Amino acid sequence: MADPKLLFVYTLMLLYLFYYGAGSMEYKVINDVPKTPGSIRYTNEIGIPYTKELLPKVTNFIWSTIFQQNNPADRKNFNVIQVLITKLQKVPAGVVAVTIGNQMNISSDVIQEYKGDVKWYFTTTVYHEATHIFQWTGEGKCPRGLVEGIAEYTQIKANYVPPTGYTKPGDGNSWDQGYSFTARFLEYCDGLVPGFVAKLNNKMKNTYDVSFFKELTGKPVEQLWTEYKAKYGKKNY
Ligand SMILES: [Zn+2]
Repeated sequence: MADPKLLFVYTLMLLYLFYYGAGSMEYKVINDVPKTPGSIRYTNEIGIPYTKELLPKVTNFIWSTIFQQNNPADRKNFNVIQVLITKLQKVPAGVVAVTIGNQMNISSDVIQEYKGDVKWYFTTTVYHEATHIFQWTGEGKCPRGLVEGIAEYTQIKANYVPPTGYTKPGDGNSWDQGYSFTARFLEYCDGLVPGFVAKLNNKMKNTYDVSFFKELTGKPVEQLWTEYKAKYGKKNY
């Protein structure tokens, strides 16, 4: 028989975790190369205060809207999210960010070179990279194209894609082509099964299999792709 006093303490602890657990995330932003032109532009046009405001907004958007993980136990368990403005080493020129674990490393060179509204570009990059922090990848078994497609899907849902010239529904050569092509396809799947991306992500906690598409929609992924292309009047090639 459980000690009622102890039970009371446990209940209080659970309530505390329930109400404050989600708010206990810490957001760190570090300008690692503060004297470089890219970092100076970061400070002038984006800034640490804006980044610290943005991060909890993006995190909550991913938890609630994209992955629909209202129960904190379903989420990837991080206490800290870190953003580093830095010089990326050993990556091809033009790569904007590398995310490992709970840390996104954002290229000061790309910030320097970006033509246009760099604050907008930084924001959409954070939506993308934060998705990588929180998404499940089937212990690494999920194809890269799908991992990138889900990150890009967050950018579309957050309305952070260019108003013109962006990939349209029906574009692309295969469902796992990645980035915007896969993201548009995931949008279509979400139209068939509401919360599709959230459900797919949940299934990928421990493993991945392409049959997840069939389990969720009743149709194999290749058939979904053919029907998707047909819906938008484009040949499947
Ligand atoms: Zn990515």
